[in-house]
Amino acid sequence: MRRIPMGKTEHNRSDASCSFADQCGLVETLQAKMAELSQRIYEKYCTNPSSQCARRWLYEQAGPRAVPSLMLPGQFDWAHQIAEELNGDPVSEHAEAQ
Ligand code: SF4
Repeated sequence: MRRIPMGKTEHNRSDASCSFADQCGLVETLQAKMAELSQRIYEKYCTNPSSQCARRWLYEQAGPRAVPSLMLPGQFDWAHQIAEELNGDPVSEHAEAQ
């Protein structure tokens, strides 16, 4: 099982409740240069099934190829724009939640 070193501690990917954790890669991408941000994202979003993550939402709406590698979990405006461009559908579900 792959382990993700996070600063002074290590988190096991199985701690992540997000069903897209294996393909997302954001935490690993940010880890080298922004370890603190990477850890905060992991704890706030990836291990919290009730969190609102723009990346997860876009995975569900449009699939993995639509998710930019550096999109952050709070970037719903960007996620909505991508979904609208791909689907041509107005996006309101998460716009109201923000
Ligand atoms: S950043 Fe979002 S999509 Fe990626 S693993 Fe964490 S919760 Fe899932």
